[in-house]
Amino acid sequence: MEAYKIFKSFCSLLEITEIFTDQGLKTGSLFFPGGNATYRGETVNIKKVESKVHNYSNEAEWEENVETVMKWFTEENLDFVTLYFGEPDVTGHKHGPDTQQRKDMVRQIDRMVGHIRNQVRQYGLESKLNVIITADHGMTTVQKGEGEIVLRDIPGFSLSDLQFHLVDYGPSGLLVPKEGNLEKVYQALKGAHPKLNVYKKEEVPDRLHYSNNERITPLVLYGEPGYVIHSYAKFQFNNGEHGFDNKEMEMKTIFRAVGPSFKKGLVVEPFESVNVYALMCELLGITPEPHDGDLAVTKNMLLTYNDDNSASTVQPARPTQADGKYSHNPHLNFA
Ligand SMILES: [Zn+2]
Repeated sequence: MEAYKIFKSFCSLLEITEIFTDQGLKTGSLFFPGGNATYRGETVNIKKVESKVHNYSNEAEWEENVETVMKWFTEENLDFVTLYFGEPDVTGHKHGPDTQQRKDMVRQIDRMVGHIRNQVRQYGLESKLNVIITADHGMTTVQKGEGEIVLRDIPGFSLSDLQFHLVDYGPSGLLVPKEGNLEKVYQALKGAHPKLNVYKKEEVPDRLHYSNNERITPLVLYGEPGYVIHSYAKFQFNNGEHGFDNKEMEMKTIFRAVGPSFKKGLVVEPFESVNVYALMCELLGITPEPHDGDLAVTKNMLLTYNDDNSASTVQPARPTQADGKYSHNPHLNFA
């Protein structure tokens, strides 16, 4: 019962488009996860939902999807569209982030970004459309062989002490011990493996924002970068994973924005993606729903704001990356 409740709660995620539809905007969603959801009875105006087993790497289909979105803007007069590409996530999981396959896929993405910008011009949208390109995580190589985390091998730990567990899905684990077993399970796991972090829900570091929700289980586990959590057998064969501590550079993602509302050639300090929602609301001229971000973090990217105290700097057309410092996490606007 408990397991069902927890699993069901994962399915109640909302997509941004449903929220914007609720505020009276005309929205579209193309393959964006959650595109089928309903919010206060509203759904996305136009959507295309991916098939159950979808090939996310087909470049010809990407081009078709971009064209579809351009038509939604020009023929259907939509205000906001989310367009999702499932790569380089799929390739990164399968082969690992540092492989040739992944590098080739990043090149394919790069071509598509160029294609999107060309299409925006072709459809006469350059002076009207703001484009944000971002993702929700990075990727790191999964460590295999000696030193892997296998819960079954930890002395004093038994899966039979649990009412529910959600492990074998990567770096994190959620455990609900049976009545009266919390301390036993916690003591067995805490400090038992050098790459395994074990917390009671209320002890999870504040910066991870993972303590104050009824849907979080009494015990929370996560592996150090590269270490996924196995329960009693190895079901995970990915060579790349995400979901590790977001303070790690390899977990960070990119943010690029271009359009009539954005300053050109601006490089800003890294920021948390939770702040992107407020930025989108500002661009669309709507009032944000309650959220954890702050427009103050991103507003200096906009032409309408001029904050001399900002740490942001306007860079030459293409910032040099001689020191490689920005190679993983440049938050800059297109030149
Ligand atoms: Zn993934």
